[in-house]
Amino acid sequence: MNNIFDTKIEYLKGVGTVRAEILNKELGVYTFGDLLEQYPFRHEDRTRFYKVDEVINDTTAVQIIGRLTFKNTVGEGRSKRLVASFSDETGEIELVWFRGAKWIEKKLTVGKWYVLYGKPQRFGAKMSFSHPELDEYDPSTPRTQKGGLVPVYHTTEKMKNKGMDSKMLAKLTRTLLENVYRSISETLPEYLIKENDLISKGLAVAWTHFPKSPETLAQASYRLKFEELFFLQLKIIASKAGKRTDKFRGQVFEKIPTFNLFYKEQLPFDLTGAQKRVVREIYNDMRSGYQMNRLLQGDVGSGKTIVAFMCMLMALDNDAQSALMAPTEILSQQHYNGLKPFADEMGVTIALLTGSSKTKERRVIDETLRDGSLKIIVGTHALIEDKVDFYNLGLCVIDEQHRFGVAQRAALWKKKSKAKPHMLVMTATPIPRTLAMTVYGDLEVSIIDELPAGRKPIITWHKFEKGRLRVFGFMKEQIELGRQAYIVYPLIEESETLDYKNLEEGYEAVSRAFPEYKVSIVHGRMKPADKDAEMQRFADGKTHIMVATTVIEVGVNVPNASIMIIENAEKFGLAQLHQLRGRVGRGAEQSYCVLMTGDKLSKDGKVRIQTMVDTTDGFKIADADLKLRGPGDIEGTQQSGVLDLRHADIGQDAALLQYVRGVAEKLIDEDPDLAKEEHGIIKHQQSLLVKKSVTNWSRIS
Ligand code: ADP
Ligand code: MG
Repeated sequence: MNNIFDTKIEYLKGVGTVRAEILNKELGVYTFGDLLEQYPFRHEDRTRFYKVDEVINDTTAVQIIGRLTFKNTVGEGRSKRLVASFSDETGEIELVWFRGAKWIEKKLTVGKWYVLYGKPQRFGAKMSFSHPELDEYDPSTPRTQKGGLVPVYHTTEKMKNKGMDSKMLAKLTRTLLENVYRSISETLPEYLIKENDLISKGLAVAWTHFPKSPETLAQASYRLKFEELFFLQLKIIASKAGKRTDKFRGQVFEKIPTFNLFYKEQLPFDLTGAQKRVVREIYNDMRSGYQMNRLLQGDVGSGKTIVAFMCMLMALDNDAQSALMAPTEILSQQHYNGLKPFADEMGVTIALLTGSSKTKERRVIDETLRDGSLKIIVGTHALIEDKVDFYNLGLCVIDEQHRFGVAQRAALWKKKSKAKPHMLVMTATPIPRTLAMTVYGDLEVSIIDELPAGRKPIITWHKFEKGRLRVFGFMKEQIELGRQAYIVYPLIEESETLDYKNLEEGYEAVSRAFPEYKVSIVHGRMKPADKDAEMQRFADGKTHIMVATTVIEVGVNVPNASIMIIENAEKFGLAQLHQLRGRVGRGAEQSYCVLMTGDKLSKDGKVRIQTMVDTTDGFKIADADLKLRGPGDIEGTQQSGVLDLRHADIGQDAALLQYVRGVAEKLIDEDPDLAKEEHGIIKHQQSLLVKKSVTNWSRIS
């Protein structure tokens, strides 16, 4: 049967070959079906235009058509800002930009008409907008579909450079929906839809892109989450009942002489109780005869790497090789540097393979991997390239899984080995254990819930802008003691350009404030090689201060860095704040984290900041996060990496998850083989889901 959703994306009106290639590469969109599943990550309420005199509260964002009547830069130094007036026939309102003033002023012309979008703020009796979005007003193009919310889609830097922004994706998706809406088939039995008050699949898909109102959006999202969790739970229940088809034969790693030798003679410290437990859990898996699929979860600094190394020794003892894959060059380099001394001590061969490995080195690596003399390979994505092959790959360790897709892990499976390699996925994202069990299902979970002895907990302060001078003073003291400092800026997809401006201005301000020190800057727009080089300079102590966006979030290890300042800390989610803070406190010195915020904090913002000040325990923070998380936050650490959940968020949707679990259990109790006619639709959908994951995997290899 020819399925319209399998139509190549280039055949969609408005796409063509050039754009199709970009969609393939940047978003993994190959077919009509793929594009339909690129769901917006939020919606902007552009349902109505307000008049200036209607702006009376500061709770919702509004859009207004009006004219810029005045602009001027006032103040000096850090208090420098751009003020402007904006008016329509009902009145005038003040706009202000505290950051990026110079750049924004250039873009704005007095006398021109703009569409303003932003959240008003109250200053006493007066309302004003800080950092509103201003788009030139063009009366000939309708700015919104009538009575709808505007979807905001994820795009990449490359796409934006080619003019393929969120607006264009919205347009393409609209065209697509017009073509395929009637072909979207139902995936749940009629009675379940009725009993649970769900809307149809077709409507849910349409409304999740183009809802008519916040209510329809909520209905759509509820339906899609329900369905997603339902099929996930069915799979988990089936696998628990021994019906799993995805449990593979595994290599048996029984003998462990080298491991024992290392443990008894070479290990430079005592393992924590939690590390010991986890090593045992992994050993039991790896000698079980089944392929291991284990998530190793442990807070930053809990010592996951050494655990991984010890597991690699188990592989080595059984004629198998190990690979450790990390998301960036610098992280791979650090893992390599960290493991090499141990490996050397044990006479174990180890090599590093990244995109910048020299051809000559590569040749040796390729050869020794294939003949089996190289035992441990550490690297980036370069490891999953086709030309890399093994003598017998026995264990894959993946660090910080949330940066890897399921598909990339699957590619590692295809490497030559006597049986599918054991997989150990390491993550610092703390997920409460009870939740993890329900959600990960067949993925086993090991948790390191104990930090090595002797760590000094990081001291965290909350400071406002008026305290900046003292914060900088303290930073100076630390640097004079020989330490290094991080200053981190938030980066939000929707205000990206502005955020980059903040970062650059911050960098200039810091350079001016600390003329005697060397300052590094690192952000996502830099070329990976430049980024790595700059990080390396900081890691080597050649620079004293690192000004960065959240690119440093993932695992950089600079033990000498003892102070971290997080700017606009209220804009970060808890998970991210915790990850960031984990960059300090890695050495012997007392470390500090300073959360800088604006004077006005939302209720949730206050709770987040206070939680950070109160505790350094990742699990406590995860719990607080679970209770708090709302759609307004920046996406924190994505928890869906392992699960590939597209709609539900195991944190936010814990209650729904429990509920759906009940629904699925009841169904399986009554009809374990899904033999009833009304359940045929479920079986059909399950087979489609399996087929889809197979296609996804094959695309990348
Ligand atoms: P993470 O879990 O964040 O990846 P690492 O594996 O990088 O943590 O470990 C952080 C530091 O703690 C490393 O320098 C490591 O050598 C050290 N470490 C690990 N386990 C212990 C232990 N049991 N006792 C003391 N230090 C340890
Ligand atoms: Mg680590």
